Amino acid sequence: MDFSLHLLTLLSLLPQSTALWCYQSQFSCDDTCRDPSRWAAQFPSCGGLRQSPINIVTSKVRVNSALPPFSFIGHSDRVNVTVQNKGHSAHFALPPSVQLTGGGLTGHYRAAQFHFHWGGDRRPGSEHTIDGERFPMELHIVHIKAPYSSLAEAEHDMAGIALLAFLFEESTDDHPHLDTVIAALGRVQNNGSSTVISSFRLRDVVPPADSLHGYYRYVGSMTTPGCEQAVAWTVFHRKLSISSRQLDAIIRQCRFWTGQPMTDTFRPTQPLDGRIVYCSMSGAAQTPVVHVWLCVFLVVFWSVMNSHMTSTGFMGEELQDV
Ligand SMILES: [Zn+2]
Repeated sequence: MDFSLHLLTLLSLLPQSTALWCYQSQFSCDDTCRDPSRWAAQFPSCGGLRQSPINIVTSKVRVNSALPPFSFIGHSDRVNVTVQNKGHSAHFALPPSVQLTGGGLTGHYRAAQFHFHWGGDRRPGSEHTIDGERFPMELHIVHIKAPYSSLAEAEHDMAGIALLAFLFEESTDDHPHLDTVIAALGRVQNNGSSTVISSFRLRDVVPPADSLHGYYRYVGSMTTPGCEQAVAWTVFHRKLSISSRQLDAIIRQCRFWTGQPMTDTFRPTQPLDGRIVYCSMSGAAQTPVVHVWLCVFLVVFWSVMNSHMTSTGFMGEELQDV
């Protein structure tokens, strides 16, 4: 069977929303589906003015002291996670007991799923870039604002979805808990297949909230069609680690709905179109912390000098009045 016939057979078997779009890496993707430059023709929101991902230019971000830390709820609970190959990526379903508050967002958000975006053989694959740099991989944790219970309900609220993004950087050592994720991806190689990870703890992948004070915030969209413009994006400063062995393993596990290897699963960065990217205070708060320590040091130094000079009589008269 030649490829186009194979593709047509697949198209007849798949739900339309799955079949109509592709990533750039799906090289045989032709008029039967649309690569990112043509998503908007079928999904109008993809051509909107608040699209994601973006390139974050650190010299242009605006510090916003009203962006406090998050509170994570349920990250230490052990839960059963269903993993499913969705044709363009694999989703790890989270129970609604996993929640977040804070982070400058109003109300509670309930977790729905997490997934990853990755590259290919020695190619980075994060969706967001920082000063033009693309990172090896990116984790997205999708939360829906309460009381909405689906993307369809939340999509008319500019902050109906809270998406947490973590960028990965390559490390010498393996990430101690990613092999569970890699093994699960290996069990969902084909579109529609699913498996369960039992006793999964989000805390094993995501650092505690009190170590995540620094983050970027902007309003944007889902990065896959229909590109709903309902997302409050949080891109954390803190990077997660992954070894080159684990990266190589991840890109080899799954296949797209077209049957091709699932690689380079990222949308190109989108124009800012006048949006402002904010930075939480603590990301830039190293300077005030240094100032505090400098002040403490000077006070101690001054006291020591004072007592020394007083005891030796050197400038003793003047220092008594300080
Ligand atoms: Zn994503």
